[in-house]
Formats: sequence, C-alpha cells, structure tokens
Amino acid sequence: MWYVVSIILGTLVGSFLNVCILRLPKEESIVWPGSHCPQCKNPIKFYDNIPLVSYIFLKGCCRHCHCAISFQYPLIEGITALASFILFLKFGFSLSYLFYFLFVAALIVITVVDLYHQIIPDVISLPGIGVGLIASLMIPQITLFNSLVGTLLGGGSLFLVATLYQSLFKREGMGGGDVKLLAMIGAFLGWKAVILTILLSSLVGSITGIIVMLLKGKDFKYAIPFGPFLSFGAVVSLFYGENIIRWYLYVSR
Ligand SMILES: [Zn+2]
Repeated sequence: MWYVVSIILGTLVGSFLNVCILRLPKEESIVWPGSHCPQCKNPIKFYDNIPLVSYIFLKGCCRHCHCAISFQYPLIEGITALASFILFLKFGFSLSYLFYFLFVAALIVITVVDLYHQIIPDVISLPGIGVGLIASLMIPQITLFNSLVGTLLGGGSLFLVATLYQSLFKREGMGGGDVKLLAMIGAFLGWKAVILTILLSSLVGSITGIIVMLLKGKDFKYAIPFGPFLSFGAVVSLFYGENIIRWYLYVSR
C-alpha cells in the first residue's frame, strides 16, 4: 500500500517539477497561471492533468489542438516517481525521505534546465544549501559539522578549479552555477560525498566529452553543461557512497 503511495506522490511532485523546468528559466511564476498547452494556450483541465495517466489517455496529444505533448512530461514524472519509490525503500516515510526527496527533485530540475539553457538557477541551489544545513540538524544520516565542511569543500574546491582554469585558458570553463550546486551537494551529503561526486562527475563527464568530440569532430565548440554530471555523481553518492568508499578503503589497504 505505502509503495503505491510513494509512487503516486512521486508522479505528483514530478508534474510540479515539469512546471518548474518550463517556467524557472523564463522567470515566470510557478503557481500562476495554471497549466496550459504551450501551443494553443488552452488551460488544461484537472482531469487532463493527472500525471502519467492523462498522457496515456490522451495518447500524447492536446485535447484542443491535438498537437503532440512533449514526451519529457511523462518521462520526468516517471523518473521522479522512481526516485520517490527508491527513497521510500531506503528511508521509509521519515524526515530523511522528505529531505532527500527534496534534494533529488532539485537535482532533476537542475539537470534538465542546465541541459536546455546551460544555467543552474540560483533560486534552487542557494536555498538548497540552507535546506541541506537544516536537514543535518534533523536527520540521523549527517551531522551539522559534516554538512558545513561539505558546503565549504564543495563551494571552495570548484571555485578553485574554476579560477585556475580561467587564469590558465583565459576563458570561463566552469560556471558559478556549478560551484553553488556542489556546495548544495556538500550540504546534503557531507564532505566525503563531495570528493566522490567530483571524481565520478569528472570521470563520466570526460568520457562523454571524448565521445561527443569523436562524433562531432574536434572543433566542436559547444560546452557540455557540467550540472547533469554533478547531479549524477551526487545521486550515486547518495545511494552507493558508503559502499564505494568502503570498497576503496578495502582495495587500497
Ligand atoms: Zn493545445
């Protein structure tokens, strides 16, 4: 029963995340006006706005203008539902579930917005740092000290890399948005996870960069946004961080 509740809750939150993804980069209100079709501007009735279910019933088409509804909507709802379910399995319905679900939801929005617009909205990452610090006072997984050190290490280390890169190559490599994102990750997950996140995201980011260069040619100038890789590293750290660190200490002994 509670499994189903966690999934339904996930789809509802995912539906809200879709609104954030669409409106935050345009600096529009996320509560008003209500949902409307991006093509014909017709308001979407509540019965056409049920996460996942409506998309299937409408067969991916708007009721009024029959234009295709982006597959992104059910995809984000599905991913958010999965995140909610896995977090429920790990933490049950607890404060830890609540805070980590907020954290993962923020990472989902950041990832998609960064992919489309190459920006990480401050309105998510900066309050995120605060929420992470507050969480450390209320949940058993992390101490306030660890959260503070994580924030400083996350913000500081990337700031250092970004400054070095800029002085070496005379152009901006990593945005300030990445710095604030990693500070937020540090606030939620602590300093060990920050190191793990940097390692994982650099590794996966480099491999992706090489593949893109091979496919598109060496002169390809489009900078790949780093936010999605940081988010990926953070999610892996959240679920498997302890295991990876334990494995590393065992192997390196
Ligand atoms: Zn329409």
